[in-house]
Amino acid sequence: MQNGMLYIEKIKREIKENKEAAVSIAPSYPAAFGQNKAGRLVSALKKLGFSRVEETVYILPKIIKLRSELVKHSEIPILGNSCPRIVKMIHEEFPHLVSCLPSFHSPMVAHCSSLKQRFGKDIITVFIGPCIEKRAEAEEAESVDYVLTFKEFYKWLQMEKIDLENLESRPFDAEPPEWARFSVFLMEIHGIKESKAFLEGFPQNSRKGKFIELLGCKGGCLNGPGMLGRGVNIKR
Ligand code: SF4
Repeated sequence: MQNGMLYIEKIKREIKENKEAAVSIAPSYPAAFGQNKAGRLVSALKKLGFSRVEETVYILPKIIKLRSELVKHSEIPILGNSCPRIVKMIHEEFPHLVSCLPSFHSPMVAHCSSLKQRFGKDIITVFIGPCIEKRAEAEEAESVDYVLTFKEFYKWLQMEKIDLENLESRPFDAEPPEWARFSVFLMEIHGIKESKAFLEGFPQNSRKGKFIELLGCKGGCLNGPGMLGRGVNIKR
C-alpha cells in the first residue's frame, strides 16, 4: 500500500474513534480543483469527518510580521524556509548558509501548531497540498500529524464517492485576509538547478534587508509532484 493510502486509512480510523481532526489546505488548491471550488472542498472535507477546515495562509500574516522583523534586524539577506527541498539542500550542500534560514517554523508547521494551540493538542492535523517532500518535514515536527497530496486527497474523495459537483458551498472555518493568499506566490527563484546556482553566489548576490523564497520545483508549488490536474479529469 502506498504511503498516502496508508495515511488515509489511519486518518479514517482516528476520525472513526471520534478524534477531532483539522485540515490545513495549501494555497495552491484553486489550481488543483478549480477557482470556484473552495466552498465545495470545505463541504467535502466536513463530509469526510473533519471538524475544522482552514487554509494554511491563515498563518501568513503572523509569519510575514516575523519575516519583516527578521530582515530589519539582520546584517545579511534571509532565505525562506517554505520549501523542504530547498531547506534540505541548504543543510546538505550549503551548511555555511544554514544561519540564513529563519529560526521560526515554515507556514505548514506554524499553521498546524496554531491549530493545536487553539483547539487542543489532541486534535489531529492533516496538511493537504501539492508537495510530497513535506512528509519528511512533518516527521520532524510534532504539530503536523499527516500530510496528503492533492492527488491522494482526490483519490480519497473518489473512494468515498464524494462528487464536488453535488456539494453545497460552505465557508472555511477561519478567513485569512485576502492579501495573504496572494503573498505566497511572490517567489523569486524556482527550480533546483536555478536555486543551486543562486545559492552558490549567496549572499553576495543579494542585499541586506531582503527576504528570498526559493522553491525547488520548476514553476513552484503549482508544479509540485502531488498537484492534481495532469491526467485527472475533473470538471471545473
Ligand atoms: S516547490 Fe515543490 S518541493 Fe518545494 S514546497 Fe512546493 S511542491 Fe514542495
